[in-house]
Amino acid sequence: MTATRVLVLNSGSSSVKYQLLEMTDESRLAVGLVERIGERQSRLTHTPVATGGERRERVEEFADHEAALRAASEELEAEGLGLDAPELAAIGHRVVHGGRSFTRPTLIDDGVLAEIRRLVPVAPLHNPANLTGITTAQALNPGLPQVAVFDTTFHTTMPEHAARYAIDVETADAHRVRRYGFHGTSHAYVSRRTAQLLGADPADVNVIVLHLGNGASVSAVQGGRCVDTSMGLTPLEGLVMGTRSGDVDPAVVFHLVRVAGMSVDEVDELLNKRSGLVGLCGDNDMREIRRRIEEGDEQARLAFDIYIHRIRKYIGAYCAVLGRVDAVAFTAGVGENSPPVREAALAGLDGLGLAVDPAANEAEGPAAEGPRLISPRGARVAVAVVPTDEELEIAHQTYALVTGAGRHRTD
Ligand code: ADP
Repeated sequence: MTATRVLVLNSGSSSVKYQLLEMTDESRLAVGLVERIGERQSRLTHTPVATGGERRERVEEFADHEAALRAASEELEAEGLGLDAPELAAIGHRVVHGGRSFTRPTLIDDGVLAEIRRLVPVAPLHNPANLTGITTAQALNPGLPQVAVFDTTFHTTMPEHAARYAIDVETADAHRVRRYGFHGTSHAYVSRRTAQLLGADPADVNVIVLHLGNGASVSAVQGGRCVDTSMGLTPLEGLVMGTRSGDVDPAVVFHLVRVAGMSVDEVDELLNKRSGLVGLCGDNDMREIRRRIEEGDEQARLAFDIYIHRIRKYIGAYCAVLGRVDAVAFTAGVGENSPPVREAALAGLDGLGLAVDPAANEAEGPAAEGPRLISPRGARVAVAVVPTDEELEIAHQTYALVTGAGRHRTD
């Protein structure tokens, strides 16, 4: 029997998302999520897509990732899709930080685990959870190939002048302080899908990808290779996000420590959890912010304007970085679903060849599903909405690696 399925695992600090994909037709067989791991009332939701079954829910205590993954594998097992099924080719793990070491998806062995562990200081929130997901999955089926797919890989092509901060080289190198970038799986997938939408080879197309979710980042992709991105050493740099500030003068940190008497941990928490849209107006859901603006709420309006202003600055910057731009692609929760954000981000940029067709931008229903163009006919630069699919991309990269199916897609 040929093994043609891939299980994709995305392990966060208190959650595990999983999807089982059939690679012959890229279909989802099952999709699930375990949340609030370690709490008394953890929750598992499992949708058996293949059988068309109802979504199931289990609320009970899953003390740790191992318990959570065991429960997920029981749910899969119930439909004959368990971790020991011969059809399962591999497990693909999302790993947030691969530093400079991992320039491609990698089959996991002890050396790879050690390297992911070595990178914990630059990704203290993410890499430990990713590691736990991997070791737990290994324990559940020791013989199964496990592949790490890194958020940073797509950005390892950034030239040195984009990846380095202008600080003392020795200090930077001693502590691995440089710009790594994140959301790479999404940027890789969306830039390639955008080229497909234009009927072009990714190698011939320059794209600015705006990944606007709760976390948000933008990348400049030249001929299929990332040449700049807005996130840096950590996912804090760049755009205004749901709860993260994005770019600030680094002296804001010294000021808050020296003048406001805050500890470094308090400033860390402020900039990561109590800033961005939430810090500016109390809400981080773009739907709620738009509803408040419709009601004349000035605070929500200002938060929206600051959010948009930052996006526009990056679009301008990346037009200059790329020289020639063929397409701008919007993706993730806000990018895919918020016409007012797309409209405001590009308003008045006709001079750069950028414009949005209002009817296409605001279309609803079936016309607003899947990758689509929203720029006016004949526009110099295509503007696209391209739903991201990080799980499919991880599954592809994993499957390609374990089946030896040609060179890796983002090479
Ligand atoms: P994450 O970074 O957590 O993966 P997502 O890409 O799922 O985030 O984006 C989540 C965000 O998308 C929400 O916080 C919300 O602001 C926004 N969003 C989701 N649906 C809509 C919608 N229909 N209209 C506007 N914004 C939306």
